[in-house]
Amino acid sequence: MGKLIQVRLRVERNAVRLAAALGELLAPRGVMPVIKRSLVVLDDSGSELRLTLHEALPIVRTSLQRAGIPYKLITVKDGEIEVIDEESGEGGEAEKAPKLYVCPHCGFTTPYEEEYWVHLKIHYLGF
Ligand SMILES: [Zn+2]
Repeated sequence: MGKLIQVRLRVERNAVRLAAALGELLAPRGVMPVIKRSLVVLDDSGSELRLTLHEALPIVRTSLQRAGIPYKLITVKDGEIEVIDEESGEGGEAEKAPKLYVCPHCGFTTPYEEEYWVHLKIHYLGF
C-alpha cells in the first residue's frame, strides 16, 4: 500500500472547504478526503484504483476554484501537494461557503450531494 496523497494548505478554514469540494469530485471514485487541521488527506484505501499525484493535481486545482479559495501557488513536494492559499476576503463569505445540502425533514446537512440523496431516501422508505 502506497502512501496516501496529502494536500497541505495554510488556512485551516480553507482545508474544510477544499475537502468538501474534493469530496464531490472524488466520492464517485471511492476516495474520501479526510481533514487534519490544515491538511487534507485523500484516503483512497477504499478505492480499487489508487489515486496518483498526477491525477490528484488537476482535481485539487478544480476544487480550489469551486470552493472559491484564493491561492498563489500549488507545488508538489515529497509526494505532497502544497497549496499556498490565502485568507478569503471578509465580504462575500456566505457566497464563498461550500454548498450545503439541508434535509427539509430533519435538518441533516452535508456538503456531499450523493450523501444527501442517500439520506433523503430514509424518510421515504415505507411511504
Ligand atoms: Zn433527514
